Amino acid sequence: MSKYEELHKLKDEMEKDDSLPLKKGATKLVFGSGNTEAKILAVGEGPGRTEDFQGLPFVGQAGKLLDKLFLLAGLERKQVFITNVVHHRPPENRDPLPEEISAYGKYLDKIIEIISPKVIITLGRFSMGKFLPNVFISAVHGKEYKINWNEKNIIVIPMYHPAASLRNGNVLSMEKTDFLQLKEKLVRMKEARKKEVPKVEQKSLV
Ligand code: URA
Repeated sequence: MSKYEELHKLKDEMEKDDSLPLKKGATKLVFGSGNTEAKILAVGEGPGRTEDFQGLPFVGQAGKLLDKLFLLAGLERKQVFITNVVHHRPPENRDPLPEEISAYGKYLDKIIEIISPKVIITLGRFSMGKFLPNVFISAVHGKEYKINWNEKNIIVIPMYHPAASLRNGNVLSMEKTDFLQLKEKLVRMKEARKKEVPKVEQKSLV
């Protein structure tokens, strides 16, 4: 099965799952969208009003800013897969609760497993907390962290949430710098991947 087909199957499963705590108050499931073969996965917080209506992540004001930030990093949206830590809109756009994040977590884990990204860009502290617990976003934003996630080496780059940048000009200028620097980081990572020696099974000659 292709990644595209696997993701569709997972989305169908998720649509039928009535145990998901935010389902009742939501219009649509916002599973995620983008390039199913992407090397970069962006993970936000949860759908807002526009996303809830359209069933797509980051299509409102924060999404418009995210598109511009991606361009600073030399990325187009079609190169990335985008999802969230919770896939139904929390009422009144409140923060997702820890038990909600954990209820949706099994699906996010599956999305990560299927996409198998080299790089995860976290948008905001809830998504950052999944991969980098016990850190402050003010101390780590824009930096790169090598983590081992379910036996796979992944680079996590925590970014401020674009909605925070829309509210605060200082955050916006830090976030622009982070995305500009992300461009250099991505070029460097691509070069490093090219140099990786393919793992050949070592067999001794008798
Ligand atoms: N904010 C998020 O965190 N995710 C979205 O999909 C939209 C806004």
